[in-house]
Amino acid sequence: MLAPIEQLTIEELIRKQRRFFRTQATKSLAFRLSMLTFLKESIKHHEAEILQALEQDLNKSELDAFTTEIGFVYDEITRTTRELKRWMRPKRVRGASIHLGTQSEVMYEPYGTVLVIAPWNYPFQLAMAPLIGAIAAGNTAVVKPSELTPNVAQMITKVLERAFTDRYVVSVEGDKDVATELLAQKWDHIFFTGSTPVGKIVMEAAAKHLTPVTLELGGKSPAIVHEDANIEIAAKRIAWGKWMNAGQTCVAPDYVLVHESKREAFLEAIKREAFTMFGNGVGTKRFTRIVNETHFDRLTAYLTEGDIFFGGQTDRDELKIAPTVLTDIEEDANVMKDEIFGPILPVLTYRQLDEVIEFVSSRPHPLALYLFTETKAVEQTVMKHLTFGGGCVNDVLMHLTNPNLPFGGVGESGMGSYHGRYSFETFSHAKSILRNTTKFDLPIRYPNFKAAEKLIRLVYR
Ligand code: NAD
Repeated sequence: MLAPIEQLTIEELIRKQRRFFRTQATKSLAFRLSMLTFLKESIKHHEAEILQALEQDLNKSELDAFTTEIGFVYDEITRTTRELKRWMRPKRVRGASIHLGTQSEVMYEPYGTVLVIAPWNYPFQLAMAPLIGAIAAGNTAVVKPSELTPNVAQMITKVLERAFTDRYVVSVEGDKDVATELLAQKWDHIFFTGSTPVGKIVMEAAAKHLTPVTLELGGKSPAIVHEDANIEIAAKRIAWGKWMNAGQTCVAPDYVLVHESKREAFLEAIKREAFTMFGNGVGTKRFTRIVNETHFDRLTAYLTEGDIFFGGQTDRDELKIAPTVLTDIEEDANVMKDEIFGPILPVLTYRQLDEVIEFVSSRPHPLALYLFTETKAVEQTVMKHLTFGGGCVNDVLMHLTNPNLPFGGVGESGMGSYHGRYSFETFSHAKSILRNTTKFDLPIRYPNFKAAEKLIRLVYR
């Protein structure tokens, strides 16, 4: 049993977790399943308080908070619990002709003691979803919630304290100084969700100990609306994905590239949809607020960089910005350089698909890309030419809700992936084992075998 967390330094905490890991207790299927059950029970016990914390920190509506933060986590635990036995089974693989008499398999073993660092935009889900993978894979874990959502951070601590009384999984709250202190330690894996600049800091710290990292980062995710797209559907789905959580979603469409022949129709349709779903945002009671004044000021500065087609209302006291569409963006505007991460949507036009390919491929690989088209050839061209973490055709965001798809970025939008089985694999080391027979011993590899070289050359052609 560990001492209360407040009496432990970070070094002591990790040492104790390591000691616990070495007892082998975390490795059995039964242990992992019980821990996932305890976690779910604890979340259920604290559910009302978590919803309240999400309202306090971000003004999230109960529907949004339950669906995207808590329900998602329940579902991930349910699925993981159901599938874990199968995932843990060593995977038999075939050998080549020189492997006569052998068996080969991949064994999944936990890394050991892992660190999960979470951001503030889905502060509960983005701490819990990786943690489910860490527990399922048999690790001990330290979770560092975001300091920008302090009520949710406290709830994460409470949930973990109730679920894991022996602190084999624990929350360490704090700001970037605490994160820096955590990153200075030796971990067996680091799972970071956050911005690209901080992702680089995390990777640098991990490199000192050669610790493997998963980086779930951000970037500018385009939505492409081609001339043959169903404009009503495109506008509705983009409006939903952009203004959910006030645009503070890593995979929200950052900007739209619409074919110039459909510009007016698209703008009118998205204006209608935005208003139907979110009202003017500022006056809408449960429209998510911007997380803090720094982000509010950063976002409102973008409003002067183009023409406001609709929206543009702001309320600094309430930290609210209306769903806004910007057109005729200034050349070299910051809104087209930075990840927006807020309710402002630049809409740009194009004439030829080639322009889209050139525009997107000359920028860092996005985390997500969304294409609206009714033509297979257009889809194939975009998929062949553009690299991005993941995305949808004729939809937005939904790819990340399918647990059978790996979720992650590429290049500057991240490395590694998770969700479902991919989370289990991300937190496991795949250990390769070849088991040979002693009933016979093929002489071919030994230097004193006369025809060795000849035979080897026959095998390795
Ligand atoms: P952030 O990078 O500022 O912070 C993330 C975490 O890192 C926090 O816990 C914070 O305390 C810690 N941190 C901050 N500065 C640090 C430093 N110098 N050293 C060590 N740790 C530090 O990100 P954020 O503002 O919380 O989140 C927004 C970003 O996260 C956006 O870029 C968004 O796209 C990205 N994001 C990505 C995903 C994904 O799944 N790919 C999901 C959500 C958010």
